Amino acid sequence: MIEHELTQELSELKTNGSLRGLKAIGSRDGKWIDCDGKRLLNLSSNDYMGYASDEELAKQFYAQQSDDNVLDEFGCGSTGSRLLSGNHTGYTKLEARLEELYGNSALVFGSGYHANIGILSALAGRGDLILADRLVHASILDGMRLTHAECRRYPHLDAGHLRKILTEKRSDYRRVFIVTESIFSMDGDTAHLEELVELKKEFDLVLYVDEAHAVGVRGQQGLGVAEELGIISDIDVLVGTFGKALAGLGAYAICSPTLKEYLINKSRSLIFTTALPPVVVHWNHWILERMCSDTVRRKELASLAGLVRTKLIDMGVPTLGDSHIVPAIIGDNQRTVDLAGVLGENGYMALAVRPPTVPPNTARLRFSLSASLEWDDLSGMFPLLAEGRAQ
Ligand code: PMP
Repeated sequence: MIEHELTQELSELKTNGSLRGLKAIGSRDGKWIDCDGKRLLNLSSNDYMGYASDEELAKQFYAQQSDDNVLDEFGCGSTGSRLLSGNHTGYTKLEARLEELYGNSALVFGSGYHANIGILSALAGRGDLILADRLVHASILDGMRLTHAECRRYPHLDAGHLRKILTEKRSDYRRVFIVTESIFSMDGDTAHLEELVELKKEFDLVLYVDEAHAVGVRGQQGLGVAEELGIISDIDVLVGTFGKALAGLGAYAICSPTLKEYLINKSRSLIFTTALPPVVVHWNHWILERMCSDTVRRKELASLAGLVRTKLIDMGVPTLGDSHIVPAIIGDNQRTVDLAGVLGENGYMALAVRPPTVPPNTARLRFSLSASLEWDDLSGMFPLLAEGRAQ
């Protein structure tokens, strides 16, 4: 029976144009990707700093391998959870370096998904309130679902609305959390973190900021938007990930020493999962070091994003935000999918994002830029876009 029901549900997804499938990604050759047998310029990657596609970097990393460090630093299995046998020395060194950079305690998780589901569920409970920006990532929503706290979503970036809720309701709850991303992955816009810090101070809140899309690309050392604004110490939980600009895997929470100790004891997604392999932790540390001083790539990426935004505006295509994630708002769902198809046929891989991921009538092409790209790589795409929109 289940087969029949599931088949029916899948066919409904197909009818709605929402059926997902896995793409067969072949070799990656710098900024190019071999997708389902076709070579495409990758405009959909999270490799913001171009590290994942930098062969030279990978060679430098593996060149450090010697018989002495092969298992400690380049081993492939961690053998257990961080609380059992998996907490190899790479973790201690990586956390110590993050603590130095951010000036507070650091705790490394297996991924951003693990961090977001494991931190909120450990800290929030009955009698608490979580207020999350309407556009936060699914991993944050799943973390909220795992708590017994009351959860509300506030209109995107609307601190005025938040203030209204807090003025009316703060005293009804024990702990109140504000949860936001710093750069939003669908709109490419940036949260007004200073306003949230003000609210936090005024209403005694816990401020939780996911910097997954900002780490590497924002701030003098690439530590994120909070670094750029000089407010790291005002954020109670700052989550950064290694899987995007840092081309690795894993995530970290920056928080107080007490909070760190509490999470080690209570965060189920830290406790009940196998630790990252030494080679991954070592890469995360190695690339973090490089990223901090890599202001050149940060600037190149920002200037490329500026050129793409200006070009879209000149063409009359609405766009949003101010970051390296640049949406081109097309509006109609089918037209957006068709345009992504035209770009694909012509060698550009760009993602079509439709409702309900984004609000109705704002279906868009999402260009997720990388420092490995140059203007000349993508300039040929704009005439196709103009032609497709005109049809
Ligand atoms: N937070 C945000 C804002 C994200 O966009 C993502 C991944 N797209 C995650 C967390 C999850 O991170 P990871 O891929 O490391 O699980």
